[in-house]
Amino acid sequence: MSDSTTALLRRRQALAKKLARLEPLILRGSLIERYKRCGNPGCKCQHGPGHGPKYYLSVSQAGGRPEMDYVPAEFRQQASDYLQNFQKVRQVLEQICNLNREILRRRAKF
Ligand SMILES: [Zn+2]
Repeated sequence: MSDSTTALLRRRQALAKKLARLEPLILRGSLIERYKRCGNPGCKCQHGPGHGPKYYLSVSQAGGRPEMDYVPAEFRQQASDYLQNFQKVRQVLEQICNLNREILRRRAKF
């Protein structure tokens, strides 16, 4: 990195703003798509993939089974956006960490 320290600080400020925007809108986990057969004899689902797709949010738990929440279709996009934001927040954190590493290397106090 050959940018001026001022440029580094400006970039850090911009990333912090991005973080503040995204932070309230994050979700950890993944969306899972499921098709289910209802078991009614004569239902057309017996000969297809089943009813669906139905969506579930799966959130891994430390030392346990993932927790599953049913996500109604009209909330699928919202859940998907939140999950994407979580990845973005992680990327932004990583970028801020890299900047701060560089700031420390320069023995700059900010
Ligand atoms: Zn059925």
